[in-house]
Amino acid sequence: MTDLQETVARAHRAHAGDAGGKNADYIPYLKNIDSTLAGLAVVTTQGEIAQAGDSSFRFAIESISKVCTLALALEDFGADVVQEKIGADPTGLPFNSVMALELHGDKPLSPLVNAGAIATASLIRATDKEDRWQRILGMQRSLTGADIALCDALNESEQTTNFHNRGIAWLLYSAGSAYCDPMEAVEVYTRQCSTLLSTVELATMGATIAAGGRNPITRKQVIKKEHCARILAEMTMEGMYDSSGDWAYTVGLPAKSGVGGGILTIVPGVMGIAAFSPPLDDVGNSVRGQRMAAAVAGALGYNLYQC
Ligand code: GLU
Repeated sequence: MTDLQETVARAHRAHAGDAGGKNADYIPYLKNIDSTLAGLAVVTTQGEIAQAGDSSFRFAIESISKVCTLALALEDFGADVVQEKIGADPTGLPFNSVMALELHGDKPLSPLVNAGAIATASLIRATDKEDRWQRILGMQRSLTGADIALCDALNESEQTTNFHNRGIAWLLYSAGSAYCDPMEAVEVYTRQCSTLLSTVELATMGATIAAGGRNPITRKQVIKKEHCARILAEMTMEGMYDSSGDWAYTVGLPAKSGVGGGILTIVPGVMGIAAFSPPLDDVGNSVRGQRMAAAVAGALGYNLYQC
């Protein structure tokens, strides 16, 4: 067993059975996922893979999809346009907050909260709804190097319950911050949240960003190197919901989590660390996922703020 594999196995063993948290239940599909599942994986920028537990179980990408759509918007328009139209600041409020829009003159502030992600999906260059969707799905596939696909049952579960997000999309539209039909934007955004991926595939996405945009498994340059720094900054700011500051303070690495129970943590230049387990804490981060990812980063001595 390699040292890296040993570290991953140890972190998994230490926290895969931890108690606490509960599955997201506002999306019916997620409520029914086995709460005992726990996977952990590391993919390095050299293409080394280490994994433990349920690391090949495919779970809902949810909010982590916002990273992929952000990457596409950066490729389409560049960093300045994304900063001007969407923003690069924490909202200080929950990920689906309407009040955050009201407080900030209807600017979403971050592409990693729902309002900003719906606006980002609307911004992507596309000829029509299907083109918009295929381009976003294509970016998920390129970053992971995997045949990512929509889960019809999950998509159905989300599309039939996403009234709050539709409300956000209309608010964006009335403020001039929706760049296509708002219902098209929210439908495509909902689809992008409804794909499935494994912990290893998620770690590969992280390794691609960590490697300056080159997927270490497929060896393809997916996005420009200069955009990776912007993605990592956005992740630091808003990636862990309302506890992004606490995560920076305690772990010191960019991360993005989703209500499907996944967490992607990135060590720039070195690796992607991905963890998955469905039970979430009060702000929406996987309880075991946070502990497993933090244990790997801590054991390997990675913290961007460590002098
Ligand atoms: N599809 C979910 C929503 O829009 C994603 C939320 C998340 O993972 O933060 O509410």
